[in-house]
Amino acid sequence: MNHQPFETWLLDDKVLTPTEKRELDSHLRECKTCTALAETGLVLRSARVAAPKPGFAMRFQHKLAAQKLAERRQKLWGLIVLVVSAISLIGLFVGPYVFAVASAPVEWLTAALGFFLFLFSSIQAFGEVLSVFARMLPNFIPPYAWMVILSGLAGAGLLWIVSIWRFAHRPQGVPA
Ligand SMILES: [Zn+2]
Repeated sequence: MNHQPFETWLLDDKVLTPTEKRELDSHLRECKTCTALAETGLVLRSARVAAPKPGFAMRFQHKLAAQKLAERRQKLWGLIVLVVSAISLIGLFVGPYVFAVASAPVEWLTAALGFFLFLFSSIQAFGEVLSVFARMLPNFIPPYAWMVILSGLAGAGLLWIVSIWRFAHRPQGVPA
């Protein structure tokens, strides 16, 4: 089939006279290739028409800014709600203690101080014991014994985990 001059008209997007248009229409009825070409041209032309109108970028930026502002407000409100609920939750738990402390401040203060002193001294003592062991043990125990101890610990840990797993996964009603 001869596609000329219709192909050229379609490709060049030619402005057609009524006669040319009639000829083209009759060709398009028979020719799928040129119909496809004409449709492609239509799509391209409509894409060109849909180019952004003047001021579009500006409006888009305004919209974006407004959206960002709204998002920021939402985040701020979320933060406020979070903080308020956290404070009220803490107040719910801590409130009774605060009242107790306020009603007998000296006793609570001494108790708290005693507790912290005890905690501090026990941590210190534990640390000293650990450091003494760390200094002593390498001298007493040869390297291969360390390997034995470590592998033994690992094995015991594995056994422990497996036993817990078996206990947890034992089917109910069936004696193990
Ligand atoms: Zn054709």
